[in-house]
Amino acid sequence: MGDHVRGAVPHAQVLVDLSAIRDNAAELRVRAGSAELMAVVKADGYGHGLVPAARAAQVGGATWLGTAVLAEALALRAAGIEGRLMAWLCAPGERWTDALAADVDVSAAAPWVVAEIADAARETGRIARLHLKIDTGLGRSGSTEADWPGLVDVALKAQAEGLVNVVGLWSHFAIADAPEHPANVAQVETFRSAVALAEARGVRPEVRHLANSAATLMSPHTHFDLVRTGLAVYGLSPLADVVSPGDVGLRPAMSVRARLALVKRVTAGQGVSYGHFHVTDRETNLALVPLGYADGVPRHGSSGDGGPGGPVLIGGKIRRVAGRVCMDQFVVDAGDDHLQAGDEVVLFGDGTSGEPTAQDWAQACRTISYEIVTRFAPRLPRTYIDREAAL
Ligand SMILES: *Cc1c(COP(=O)(O)O)cnc(C)c1O
Repeated sequence: MGDHVRGAVPHAQVLVDLSAIRDNAAELRVRAGSAELMAVVKADGYGHGLVPAARAAQVGGATWLGTAVLAEALALRAAGIEGRLMAWLCAPGERWTDALAADVDVSAAAPWVVAEIADAARETGRIARLHLKIDTGLGRSGSTEADWPGLVDVALKAQAEGLVNVVGLWSHFAIADAPEHPANVAQVETFRSAVALAEARGVRPEVRHLANSAATLMSPHTHFDLVRTGLAVYGLSPLADVVSPGDVGLRPAMSVRARLALVKRVTAGQGVSYGHFHVTDRETNLALVPLGYADGVPRHGSSGDGGPGGPVLIGGKIRRVAGRVCMDQFVVDAGDDHLQAGDEVVLFGDGTSGEPTAQDWAQACRTISYEIVTRFAPRLPRTYIDREAAL
């Protein structure tokens, strides 16, 4: 992969391997069995780029795309992305008419949402494709079990008026990254009874869906008709302590690279970066990496301040951030190694060339790989490798 960044390149960039996204989707498609595959592309495709990620996942076999907010779904349609597309996070006064005009599946967790969607359907003359969401235990979005019969009845009434079609019944796991946790059993049971109640009242759902990446990989009995995979599409493991991406046939798609901006020799006792949380213990070479928290490098990747410092590969060796990560830059203490300005720095990649992974950064920063990859790119150029994978 190193070859991709030799020659004239930006001082730092996010590389996205679209063939990895395509292949990961194909792998997940197989693992989903008879269920269809939704690639979740919210948050700018988990930082990989909304439209390229969506295209690559579709080429790999995703028949559905999912976003959190409606603006993301509308951006996909504006870019010419076809196929089933669902947006699930709404607030009062949402642009429902735009959603219906763009053929976006919508979700309701309360009667007032059904009412707003029905109004938009009346206004546009389009029948809304509606998914009803039950909270089976996450304690976040979704109707409570107590409110569920009322929600189902309101939706069926709108359906009888020709305003909506209730096409989906769905929910979301709280602890799917611990497959043996009893909460998972309870959530599946609650989901089954919510589906049974809705069906008994006359709902004929096209898709019942519950599984995220972790459940798709580890718990086939949760697949129902459709699985909603996000993180796994990008080649990262949602159960980092249990399986590595390679264990389940996935390959990380994102790599973050930079070139050293400066290398200099300093004496022992030199405090490094804001707060002097690292002090050189000998004469040494300090290397300056032109990436900081404004680019997405977590400040929790600092060293000397409770954490070990985020890992980077420079000159064939893993090294760690020395002292604080700043807004635009951080420093690495390279000892007597002969590094020079312009040398390649790999923050993370797929790990096959000895570089750290996004999971390694997550561990160093006491967070999850989801947060690592979604942070990068706003200021950095994103470079796509294997673009034809997304055509
Ligand atoms: C983000 C999200 C997903 C995808 O979760 P992963 O763990 O990344 O697979 C699925 N469903 C809902 C409702 C989500 O918000």
